[in-house]
Amino acid sequence: MVPALGQGTWMMAEHASRREAEIAALRKGLDLGMTLIDTAEMYAEGAAEELVAEAISGRRDQVFLVSKAYPWNASARALPRACAASLKRLGTDRIDLYLLHWRGDVPLAETVAAMEALRDAGHIRHWGVSNFSVADMEDLFAAGGWRCAANQILYNLTRRGPEWDLLPWLAAKGIPAMAYSPVEQGRLAGNADLHRIGQGLGLSAAQLALAWVLNRTGMIAIPKTGHAAHVSLNLRAAELGLTPAILAEVEGIFPAPMTAQPLETI
Ligand code: NDP
Repeated sequence: MVPALGQGTWMMAEHASRREAEIAALRKGLDLGMTLIDTAEMYAEGAAEELVAEAISGRRDQVFLVSKAYPWNASARALPRACAASLKRLGTDRIDLYLLHWRGDVPLAETVAAMEALRDAGHIRHWGVSNFSVADMEDLFAAGGWRCAANQILYNLTRRGPEWDLLPWLAAKGIPAMAYSPVEQGRLAGNADLHRIGQGLGLSAAQLALAWVLNRTGMIAIPKTGHAAHVSLNLRAAELGLTPAILAEVEGIFPAPMTAQPLETI
């Protein structure tokens, strides 16, 4: 069981002047029950994982920790090393969910075997993928990867393509989807239509965008914020149920896909 609303960390640990606020934001999120924290060896070239370690210090057991390996580290030789380095930076002995960040050149069967070995050894509790299309998922299953525990994908009001094929595919297999960039990297916070609709509900545009993502059954969202005040606002968005009338208004502006679309990534 994980909370539907987690916390992202991309772009954290990049400016010393923001570090204190970023750690405070993550801690505030933990206080409020947003105990899923998403990071990656890529973010700030490892420094984001170190920042997470500081934020969760003394409360590791409360946290569901997600990290990701670069595709070029997804081989039988490199994955154990990448995982060990992430564990060291994270200051922990286990990653709860370890993801292949995106598909690369390493054969999927080799990555699956390397992930399973890490799990058997107790270094990770679950493994999954990110940025995998339906075709990639089918290849993963053909490579023996049916223990995949999640697919983390770009999904928000302006990126509804996965609704056509990927989300139904994942749902049929019982694999949770995790929406990254649910506020479109902050761009939806400035959307005038969302601002107008949100005003009537006492919500900001960012909150409405996030509430829409979380309105989808089983969806996990991992917005990033370096501000504790935004953490509280995001929690409020998660607690909100959107009425059919509001959903219809929002989806009139951001329509569902009418055809299959290539999986978008950021
Ligand atoms: P988000 O959609 O989460 O947007 C983050 C931006 O939104 C920040 O600038 C933040 O600003 C702003 N924001 C957040 N909450 C609010 C609010 N309530 N009001 C106003 N502004 C707000 O984009 P990300 O790309 O960061 O995606 C989230 C996470 O997903 C990443 O941090 C990362 O962990 C993961 N990710 C994974 C990818 C993958 O390939 N697997 C790719 C991209 C992201 P502020 O900090 O000032 O609050």
